[in-house]
Amino acid sequence: MLSRRGFMDRMVRAAAVFLAGFPILTVGKRAFAQSGEGALRVFSAKEGGYVLMDKVVKNKEEWKKILTREQYHILREEGTERAFTSKLNDNKEKGVYRCAGCGLDLFSSEHKYDSGTGWPSFWQPIAPENIGTRPDNTLFTRRTEVHCPRCDGHQGHVFDDGPKPTGLRYCINGLALQFVPEQEIKG
Ligand code: FE
Repeated sequence: MLSRRGFMDRMVRAAAVFLAGFPILTVGKRAFAQSGEGALRVFSAKEGGYVLMDKVVKNKEEWKKILTREQYHILREEGTERAFTSKLNDNKEKGVYRCAGCGLDLFSSEHKYDSGTGWPSFWQPIAPENIGTRPDNTLFTRRTEVHCPRCDGHQGHVFDDGPKPTGLRYCINGLALQFVPEQEIKG
């Protein structure tokens, strides 16, 4: 039979275990919610590190409300703008190029170069996690399509004729991008 003291000891120990376990449980639940389906771990220029972001999913009508006709054609129908039509092609300002659909940071001015093709070109994305690729076998060629991993918006293609150090050329539609100057990123 338990003595009164022994009983109290057990109660205190049980309470301590319960209280100790509680924050772990809470943190665990939160971590689960953040890393659940639909959340992405991506780089944020504003935060200067990796963050968890929810995916952006919209239907056709919702996209049409927030995008211009040309942007919709490129981002949601894998269209291509005419070469040398984007003012971002010649942009040499320091800053970040975000997805025009969802605002995810995709490219940095640090990795931009003049490819002479007439489309904004980069030799790498701002972070590997911030860009998605898939094979594209249309137009009788094998190309690699590039898209935003957050909203799945089409951005352009990546080719292997780029400059060092990667040798890659991310050939991107200016209309699929939104440029944010360096001084506005933190603001
Ligand atoms: Fe996006």
